[in-house]
Amino acid sequence: MSIEASFDKSAVEKSLRAVVDPSTNKDVVTLGMVKHIAVFEGAIRIVLELSPHASSLQEQLRSTVERAVREAAVVAHAKIETLEIDFVAPKVAPTAAASTEATPSSTQGEASNPLPLVKKIIAVGAGKGGVGKSTIAVNLAVGLARMGHAVGLLDADIYGPSAPTMLGMDDVGTKAKGQMLMPFELHGIKAMTIGKLVDPDKALVWRGPMAHGAFKQLATQTDWGELDYLIIDLPPGTGDVALTMAQMLPVAGAVVVCTPQRVAQDDARRAVRMFQNLGVEVLGVVENMSFFTAPDGKEYDLFGRGGAEIMAQTMGLPFLGSIPIHIALRENSDSGKPLENWKNATMGASLDALCQRIEAQVKLAEMAGRTDRPTLTISP
Ligand code: ADP
Repeated sequence: MSIEASFDKSAVEKSLRAVVDPSTNKDVVTLGMVKHIAVFEGAIRIVLELSPHASSLQEQLRSTVERAVREAAVVAHAKIETLEIDFVAPKVAPTAAASTEATPSSTQGEASNPLPLVKKIIAVGAGKGGVGKSTIAVNLAVGLARMGHAVGLLDADIYGPSAPTMLGMDDVGTKAKGQMLMPFELHGIKAMTIGKLVDPDKALVWRGPMAHGAFKQLATQTDWGELDYLIIDLPPGTGDVALTMAQMLPVAGAVVVCTPQRVAQDDARRAVRMFQNLGVEVLGVVENMSFFTAPDGKEYDLFGRGGAEIMAQTMGLPFLGSIPIHIALRENSDSGKPLENWKNATMGASLDALCQRIEAQVKLAEMAGRTDRPTLTISP
């Protein structure tokens, strides 16, 4: 039985009635502090309103709420996979002073959404290059399409576009209709890449305005048509393209790809903070190259398996799954045949599980109304 059937939103709300503010003797529900509750496939997310003046109470409140929900779940025999408790400050009417804070927020993008036919936009980012960000972006796009969704992939990695190779489109030319570029249709998805528009060697020296212009053109002048998901493969690190994206598009959330080593985690942490500062929801962390699976199926722990999962936990982020180093994954990327990845049952299953967890996090973010969250949040 799914968690929703036995332990639904109202059960979570009921459990929160046990959390009482001693000064008023009223519970958090009665006090109107519970802004959102979302329950989806074992994942629970609760958003509580707390005034910045009371921020010293945040951690105490978090643990009291967590205890109340977990105890109620035990009584209901429900299993909780993840329990996220976030805090927002009360919404305030915009003032002249507040408007001087130029915070790029997703709400800005929604006002003039340039991609109204695209239902959900997922960005894939990483702290640094070479961790498998493009591999995850390509397989997420193809994996979601295999599940029946209409999917687009925007390869916006202006410093090292991988889609031409990974999707095998080296020999295909771009087509335009009027002002619009027609996306490439391959492997069940629609794709567009900066690699087809410019010489990647020249793009390497691009900065600010040029990167901004290239991203804008790729995103908005491609004839995507109706899409359930648009996956955006961002350049590694923290930079101009992510800022343009956050200002321009209503992004549902970002997936951060990380390898298990300590040094990779530090970079990934910076990428997470960048998304949070840009007002882009972080859907979670993927551990790539988690361990090595030899052709005989034997597993070798090379880089400290589990490192990215621990990082996700310490940052209070969902862990979206691990993908091992698989020789075939590299071979199929190099030969531009991503669908071959599903011919290997173990690899196909881990990619499918990853797609499902990302979908669940997007739904959770939507249900919790994170897209219209206030820009004013309590920082830890
Ligand atoms: P990034 O986008 O982070 O720079 P890529 O996705 O281009 O990284 O991956 C870098 C290289 O590592 C590519 O050759 C890719 O095929 C390979 N690679 C990525 N993930 C895996 C994996 N899990 N197993 C084997 N090879 C991988």
